[in-house]
Amino acid sequence: MSQFTPSPASLLVTGNEIAGHSYIFAFRGRDILMKDGNLPRLADFPNRETLTGLHIGELDGIPCLGIPFPEAFLWEVQPLRAVIHTLDDAAVFAICRAKEMMFWRNRRKFCGACGTALKDSETDMARICPECGERFYPQIAPAVITAVLKDDKILLAHNRNFTSGVFSLIAGFVESGESLEQAVAREIMEETSIKVKNIRYYSSQPWPFPNSLMLGFVAEYDSGDVKPDGVELETAGWYSADELPQLPDHGSIARKIIDDFIANRLRTI
Ligand SMILES: [Zn+2]
Repeated sequence: MSQFTPSPASLLVTGNEIAGHSYIFAFRGRDILMKDGNLPRLADFPNRETLTGLHIGELDGIPCLGIPFPEAFLWEVQPLRAVIHTLDDAAVFAICRAKEMMFWRNRRKFCGACGTALKDSETDMARICPECGERFYPQIAPAVITAVLKDDKILLAHNRNFTSGVFSLIAGFVESGESLEQAVAREIMEETSIKVKNIRYYSSQPWPFPNSLMLGFVAEYDSGDVKPDGVELETAGWYSADELPQLPDHGSIARKIIDDFIANRLRTI
């Protein structure tokens, strides 16, 4: 069983300070740099001494380094979503942490209170203002995603942001001051005009696009007629397991929940 141990602090290292077999994580948008179907190793880079990156942690004892995308070494650039689907939980943890930490550091260069350039904390994963002492930690944006069940059917919708023809579950970000259950009920009401009841937790998935945590739920239909909001959702409706539209790719929690619906496992949650 593979294991990832995250670094407790935000630590920059150079390529000559860590082992050549260290894993390298480099992202460009929603893609990740790979080599021969695997994560690249530091020794793959002929200029390794000049590389500087963020020490993310250790995957099975091997150091993990997040670096800016090296445009000179385009061995393979693969969609991160597809890569995540093929790896075990420890490697996915390492990738998600690497992507989110690098996103966070790139956007936490100056103090939001006084404008001074921030420095890394040596003791925890934080950026500190040397002028006013303010501390900035990585922020995670929680989002809820819900399977709404009605008799033997599930509510699926096409969102304008989805690939053409793909239908999935209702999802949205949690707002300040809300409980997760309130966010579930609000999102479904806002986007489809229906009321739900018996909201139960399913499971979660880190979603580093760029810093979300997807929290899955199952709920039962209560009342109202499905009316897509016309803003985010173009189409929405009830589907039974034997007449499903085109679904999202494997690898997302949405697809996992829908697959559990198809296998009739959601009723027991
Ligand atoms: Zn400050």
